[in-house]
Amino acid sequence: MRFPKKVLLVFLPSESGVDGAKSLYAENDGNSLFSWFNSSLRSIIKQTQFAIPPLSLMILSSIEVEGIEQSICDMRFEEFPFDRPWDLVGISVQTGMARKAFELADRLRVAGLTVVLGGPHVTLFPGDCGKHADVLVQGEAEELWEKVLEDLKSGTLRPLYHSASFPDLSVSRPVSKRALAANRYFTTNVIQTGRGCPHNCDFCNVHVMNGHSLRKRNIGDVVDEVARFRRDDRRIFFFVDDSINADPEYAAELFRRITPLGIRWFGQATTTLGQQDELLETFARSGCCALLVGIESIEPKSRSAHRKNQNRVSELAGSIRNIRSAGISLYGSFIYGLDGDTLETPAAILDFIGETKLDVPGINILRPIPGTKVFDRLRDEGRLLFDPIDITAYRYTFGQEMLYRPKNIPLDKFISSYSELTRKVFSVRNSLSRGLAAPGAKAAVLLFNLFYSHLYSLSRKDLQRQFGGTFTEKSVLPSAE
Ligand code: SF4
Repeated sequence: MRFPKKVLLVFLPSESGVDGAKSLYAENDGNSLFSWFNSSLRSIIKQTQFAIPPLSLMILSSIEVEGIEQSICDMRFEEFPFDRPWDLVGISVQTGMARKAFELADRLRVAGLTVVLGGPHVTLFPGDCGKHADVLVQGEAEELWEKVLEDLKSGTLRPLYHSASFPDLSVSRPVSKRALAANRYFTTNVIQTGRGCPHNCDFCNVHVMNGHSLRKRNIGDVVDEVARFRRDDRRIFFFVDDSINADPEYAAELFRRITPLGIRWFGQATTTLGQQDELLETFARSGCCALLVGIESIEPKSRSAHRKNQNRVSELAGSIRNIRSAGISLYGSFIYGLDGDTLETPAAILDFIGETKLDVPGINILRPIPGTKVFDRLRDEGRLLFDPIDITAYRYTFGQEMLYRPKNIPLDKFISSYSELTRKVFSVRNSLSRGLAAPGAKAAVLLFNLFYSHLYSLSRKDLQRQFGGTFTEKSVLPSAE
């Protein structure tokens, strides 16, 4: 038997978004200048390294088993290395990317390689995956992966590894970067302090995947990790938790202890941070430059229709102002097309962005993710636009594809009003002025805004192409920007 056994963990790029601005419906649409511009921009995006490393694969590659050597192949940057011998290939599968993952798995198995599939899609839909893999890992994998590696060594791999409970994150499991090619990324300093979410937003799969109770890592372990990571990469830190202020006492202690390390960091939070004065001050002092907040909707009817209840609309604007006044830039994510939205919603979103001076607005279309409550409801109401049995058709895009019919707005009017909204929000003038006015991380805010100006123009074109170019933009917004 050959030792060490070589294991390769594979990460697949998404079809669009920060992995590269790409038309889904017509990459070569006869306009060669536009196609050339798109492909040039894709390589610029990669070179400016918006990409961050796949944390789930970093966590798995950090698990040490004697006689096993693990590597990561990030297919955003490289082709699959067929020229080397692999004893096991692990692929992380997202539902929106499942077709690509299955195609690759099938190819690898035809070439004689042993394939293990894991990730969110395998956790929620294992039945769909079995025919493309030798081994499935179902659920959060860190406790299962060690067993997979031990069994690989002894030649006793099983077809399914499954755990009935979530891993205990308070157990110390130091994350290592040794399997990464550090220079490819915007930063390699990616940290997760916990998982799970106590809320129930029906379009979100975080609570479906990771459970309703917050499981946190030991604060000392996280601080040690930040200090260790900082020694070999002085770039920005990303805290990838869905809500870094979900447990305010934990967050206050963590960032108090991180402050002396002198890092700069981005993260994701809820807008309630704007009412948590002490915590906000601690965040600012500890080097927080920018946060992503999920505003989702400013329509009370939409918020209750989709169970987004954890913060009140009346408090949103004040909270955003407080956070920005503390020197922290905000990426505010909206969803247009929720069940309480009407053709008046785009004007309300536009006003809200102007009033609060959000630094990067993200204007998304509702994406029904298979496995969420909203997917099941839209399917039962006959509002999905693709076959609900073929869940791999529900791919991830950046506002480039309609997957469902909005409740109160006819499809043609929805697409023209969405297009008009993104055109206004991301005019080059608005993008530039938001970048210049950002209270923190100015360069990143400016780059994101300019990148989005392009990405939303792709979105408008693709939405037209999806329906054969039949929709004209009829104004539902006031003419002044
Ligand atoms: S959208 Fe945010 S708050 Fe709502 S369930 Fe998902 S992670 Fe929790």
